[in-house]
Amino acid sequence: AAGGATTSTRRGPGGGGRPMDDENLTFETSAGVEVVGSFDAMGIREDLLRGIYGYGFEKPSAIQQRAVIPIITGRDVIAQAQSGTGKTSMISLSVCQVIETNVHEVQALILSPTRELATQTERVMQAVGNFMSVSVHACVGGKSIGEDIRKLESGVHVVSGTPGRVCDMIKRRTLRTRAIKLLVLDEADEMLSRGFKDQIYDVYRYLPPELQVVLISATLPHDILEITSKFMTDPVRILVKRDELTLEGIKQFFVAVEKEEWKFDTLCDLYDTLTITQAVIFCNTKRKVDWLTERMRTNNFTVSAMHGDMPQKERDAIMSEFRGGTTRVLITTDVWARGLDVQQVSLVINYDLPNNRELYIHRIGRSGRFGRKVKFSLLLHNSRCGDQLCAQG
Ligand code: ADP
Ligand code: MG
Repeated sequence: AAGGATTSTRRGPGGGGRPMDDENLTFETSAGVEVVGSFDAMGIREDLLRGIYGYGFEKPSAIQQRAVIPIITGRDVIAQAQSGTGKTSMISLSVCQVIETNVHEVQALILSPTRELATQTERVMQAVGNFMSVSVHACVGGKSIGEDIRKLESGVHVVSGTPGRVCDMIKRRTLRTRAIKLLVLDEADEMLSRGFKDQIYDVYRYLPPELQVVLISATLPHDILEITSKFMTDPVRILVKRDELTLEGIKQFFVAVEKEEWKFDTLCDLYDTLTITQAVIFCNTKRKVDWLTERMRTNNFTVSAMHGDMPQKERDAIMSEFRGGTTRVLITTDVWARGLDVQQVSLVINYDLPNNRELYIHRIGRSGRFGRKVKFSLLLHNSRCGDQLCAQG
């Protein structure tokens, strides 16, 4: 239904009627970056504009006002902005703008760290590109290879995928790379970190030399920024100051729980609050997710759970139930930490302390999507409160 916002009364899933309140965010930008306050003024093609407005976007967000133009004019770009401020949506609309629909070859490749995120991006692109017959394919692990091959051979303009499957498809020569002119890494710091880096370079080797590269993330640690010079040419940088990474709209709390065991009771006490809208509870391991889910259910609480050891079919089913609002409390791992956008999530609970600062920022960013009103993040913490993360809260 994503692209179905064609009547004038219904709003698309995008804007929801609430104007973006990120005007006072400050950026550190390369010289020459202009701020363009409307989609109309960006030189975007007519049919795409219709799709953007139809999806419910009225006005570009702060990052979109700065980064869309450099991206669609072919520059290499490194763009950082807080969670939920429209970065991934910006990729979707910019990619639609740069492809030529009459050329039936893959022209842009978007890589994301999780299957769910790659699929979400595919959907947003289909929605904003609704009126311009853009063909997008989510090329992700856990799905039928035969289906991938069929889809790719039918000729798609854009591939949104995860590195493993994309690499596989390139090596089989099913995904032809010769017409690819744009590579986007969403959640770029994650994509260039240890777990993914080799796969990314593996893909990169197959791409044409005059490639445009765009990196996007809410977090871009210094060591990551340093390696970008290896594969980017004079990139336009639009960055956020390190201490301004969390959104004001997200209220952060912690509960100092003396003993690990007491976290469970604390969570149960909070259950009624969780279900007012929707909540995501993060644990650090898949085992802990299974354990907590089991325990909550034994105590007659309704919860759903998702992690990377589940078959993709089950992951998809759980995702769509949660997106549709039939389930309200999701217990999960960091597979859910980045990029996923479910507007009704207004509370994030860190059952376990995340392993680093970036993860904390991404996890809490699952609430507070695009200026929704008051959002909460709660950390159940069983060690001393002098801890850095708590201090920031
Ligand atoms: P990010 O990647 O920065 O976390 P997303 O692109 O996922 O952010 O967008 C977060 C939410 O904001 C999504 O629900 C998206 O539809 C909405 N959104 C993005 N840009 C706009 C806009 N210009 N106007 C209204 N809503 C927007
Ligand atoms: Mg995103």
